[in-house]
Amino acid sequence: GSKIGIIGNGQLGQMMAIAATQLGYFCHVYAPNQSGPANVVAAKSFVGAYDDGEKLKEFAASVDVITYEFENIPAAPLVEIAKRVAVYPPPQALNVAQDRLTEKNYASDLKIRPAPFRPVSSPRELSYALLELGIPSILKQRTQGYDGRGQMVVKKATDSHLAEIWSELSCKEAILEGMVKFEHEFSVLAVRDIKGQFLTWDIPANTHNNGILDHSVVPANDFILQQADAAIKATQRIADSLNYVGVLAVEFFATQFGPIFNEMAPRVHNSGHWTIEGAETSQFENHIRAVCGLPLGSTALTAERVEMKNLIGAQVNTWEKILSRRNNYLHVYGKGTARPGRKMGHVTKLIKRII
Ligand code: ATP
Ligand code: MG
Ligand code: MG
Repeated sequence: GSKIGIIGNGQLGQMMAIAATQLGYFCHVYAPNQSGPANVVAAKSFVGAYDDGEKLKEFAASVDVITYEFENIPAAPLVEIAKRVAVYPPPQALNVAQDRLTEKNYASDLKIRPAPFRPVSSPRELSYALLELGIPSILKQRTQGYDGRGQMVVKKATDSHLAEIWSELSCKEAILEGMVKFEHEFSVLAVRDIKGQFLTWDIPANTHNNGILDHSVVPANDFILQQADAAIKATQRIADSLNYVGVLAVEFFATQFGPIFNEMAPRVHNSGHWTIEGAETSQFENHIRAVCGLPLGSTALTAERVEMKNLIGAQVNTWEKILSRRNNYLHVYGKGTARPGRKMGHVTKLIKRII
């Protein structure tokens, strides 16, 4: 098809639309407002709520295939739309990934080890779960969280503290996770096409600050690389079991006991931004190729080392310095106000180019 529908209008949608436009496609973007980074590069913008079945149908009728840039959209209307137009990745991937409990059970069923977890729906259940998982643990909303939002570290077991944390999280359903003692964090970035071909990019080592990805480095260190195989196999089991089409990212903790599954993202991922300049084919282009039924491109590195640094909040103001350096690639998303904790852009640095 020649028109691609993208649900969501953030920077991921923007980068997908740029890749798609280069390949000759037109992108229609659907989001609740018309002022996101993706709208700027879209051929057409649709405004509607993510659960507005009628508006979504109108949108679906205007495109040949639909994809999405984030997992916190209701799956039910997409399942409906998928009867008329292809939706990739399959809506079932959304179902699994948008609820931390479903996601962890799904991984466990595939013999992939998540952090120890307990579903929790009251302060009392929280205190029991804490007894099993120990202090500190992390309490997370089951749905909607991202960039470390909607989660809190539980450091004390007193009833008053638990009641306070529970009301601060202000959700009915949560999950308590044991604190994983990891050495490093990494992600597996994979793409699977309609025929089932599965490719991965080199594994980035990811560093988070306050729950937000700060930077990614490729290649990862030896500690991570020793567990890469197991993590890639786990990722392929997830992708195959979902009959997945598109880019899939799975976050892992690298521990002394091997890789521990953190979460999956059924979409292009921040830890793959380095692939725009650092790989022969970027995650965005391969995602578009996969959902449009084109052959996948090589994921080989273009440099011996690639570093991606997120520009968070006021860090985006360093753009001038970045532009003056060789082999530094600046991306600014055009989001307006540089609020603290907001991802405003990123910079990728290539060290020792190969091609
Ligand atoms: P994203 O933006 O990646 O979707 P998120 O809001 O879904 O983020 P998580 O990936 O669950 O958040 O957690 C954010 C970060 O917090 C992790 O990358 C890790 O650094 C830390 N963290 C989360 N859960 C645990 C855990 N069980 N043990 C140790 N650290 C954790
Ligand atoms: Mg997440
Ligand atoms: Mg995460």
